[in-house]
Amino acid sequence: MTSESKPAHFLQNIIREDLAEGRVEQLTTRFPPEPNGYLHIGHAKSICLNFGLANEFGGQCNLRFDDTNPAKEEEEYVDAIKRDVSWLGFEWAGDVRYTSDYFDQLHQWAIYLIEQGKAYVCDLNAEQAREYRGTLKEPGKNSPYRDRTVEENLDLFARMTAGEFDEGSCSLRAKIDMAAPNINLRDPIIYRIKKMAHHQTGDKWCVYPSYDFAHGQSDAIEGISHSICTLEFEDHKPLYDWFIENLPVPARPRQYEFARLHLNYTVVSKRKLKQLVDEGFVDGWDDPRMPTISGLRRRGVTPASIRQFCEMIGVTRSDSTVDVGMLEYAIRDDLDKNAPRAMCVLKPLKVTLTNYPEGQQEMLSAPGHPVREDLPTRELPFTKTLYIEQEDFREEANKKYKRLVLSKKVRLRNAYVIQADEVIKNDAGEIVEVRCSVDLDTLGKDPADGIKPKGVIHWVSADNNVDCEVRLYDRLFNDESPDVGDKNFLESVNPDNLEVLTGCKAEIGLAEAQPEKGYQFERNGYFCRDSKYGTPDKPVFNRTIGLRDSWAKEQNK
Ligand code: ATP
Ligand code: MG
Repeated sequence: MTSESKPAHFLQNIIREDLAEGRVEQLTTRFPPEPNGYLHIGHAKSICLNFGLANEFGGQCNLRFDDTNPAKEEEEYVDAIKRDVSWLGFEWAGDVRYTSDYFDQLHQWAIYLIEQGKAYVCDLNAEQAREYRGTLKEPGKNSPYRDRTVEENLDLFARMTAGEFDEGSCSLRAKIDMAAPNINLRDPIIYRIKKMAHHQTGDKWCVYPSYDFAHGQSDAIEGISHSICTLEFEDHKPLYDWFIENLPVPARPRQYEFARLHLNYTVVSKRKLKQLVDEGFVDGWDDPRMPTISGLRRRGVTPASIRQFCEMIGVTRSDSTVDVGMLEYAIRDDLDKNAPRAMCVLKPLKVTLTNYPEGQQEMLSAPGHPVREDLPTRELPFTKTLYIEQEDFREEANKKYKRLVLSKKVRLRNAYVIQADEVIKNDAGEIVEVRCSVDLDTLGKDPADGIKPKGVIHWVSADNNVDCEVRLYDRLFNDESPDVGDKNFLESVNPDNLEVLTGCKAEIGLAEAQPEKGYQFERNGYFCRDSKYGTPDKPVFNRTIGLRDSWAKEQNK
């Protein structure tokens, strides 16, 4: 899945060397989401990287749920994450794995550390513990419970595990160094009491390992050779290494960090995306405005375009923000090549062809795609009454307006040339109908008088079409960096991020449109049928993206 032309990135170089020099026999990576929300476009970068490297180097990539916090996790998220990874086109090695599969082993290793005098039960409450921890500038202080004997610690940890103590009353901490400059090494908590059922292990446990204690050891258990994570975990590496060095683990994973994806006009944080859902700014995690994988899918974005986007942005160790226009470019590029063409009138204006027989319908045919001959030809019913776009007609206009003007001609796309003869208005003075004459000698050829109309407009039969609703999405945020600084990102939500049009008229073939399959509605953009709303005879179409490509234009300046 890597393009041949692109130079190798630092992780590809590291892996190639590790394999060449025999430090690693087989590349094993993993994608380790916490099931506390749906995956977003940032996760796609990590997925494409981890699975992509495994594919490239003939290794394997595991899908492991890092499920150490039952308070925030749910089975719904587990299911959504599996669906999203598969949809992106990747296959994990073997069964789905869970950190909770290793809770027994992790618990034994916690006891092992106690036995080695390297972990102790501490009764400081959260506030006291914070005080004892010190700051970036000042060292911490030893907990008064730090010198408990091995026997006492074993007993207390057994009683913690048996549920004898209340949540928050004590925890198990690694005994490392309260004066360490790296705060992560100041006797971090490795087990906490949480009297809470877990989505995988049920009521079995009332103590749970911390993420930091579980993460590296889970990698070791799975034989992960290259444990790839984002830069914010760089400071945790000395702690992960400490655990690995002080425990009888079966393997030694090596951690490598890369920069997270930041996208402008977007937030990529499950916590914030959850807030948008919970506070009703959007209609669920898969709302087509959301930068989640499921939202993008429902909007009509293809997995190939997300993979292409991840390829384009590359992998580095320096944080930067990517222009969302680059994602839009990848989406448009894929749809342009693959989406069948169709016509849909968003804001219909009635056109009556006065010289066309009442009740007659002829079937015209149109190509499925301008160059893709494998896409089937469309059948377009042509009748006396049609719809065109309101904005495609004017009573008067200058020469720049290449559409239908009173007493002028225009070509109907894939059909005949018509001329506007008369305008009908309602009492409010609004145009409700245009009466035209059709030149039936113009199918696939110029009019006999040799005067070629300048404009081509789209249309749909008024008698034989699909009545539908169309949802036009705009950016979810109108601030380029909605969550940078002290801002409340919710205040940057674009109030005009959705326009719903009803009574739109699509060509009849779109009655069969499959949900999430992209079409180009000629002159209007790329659309797909919504998978959640609409009925069989009244579909809802989502605009995936407009036709215009402002990003590429910027690049060519
Ligand atoms: P969030 O802040 O959205 O909750 P997270 O890092 O806590 O993100 P995890 O479920 O722990 O989410 O992430 C799983 C994997 O995806 C991790 O390896 C993480 O580093 C990676 N990941 C998460 N967000 C991004 C991002 N924006 N860019 C690249 N990788 C990411
Ligand atoms: Mg997280």
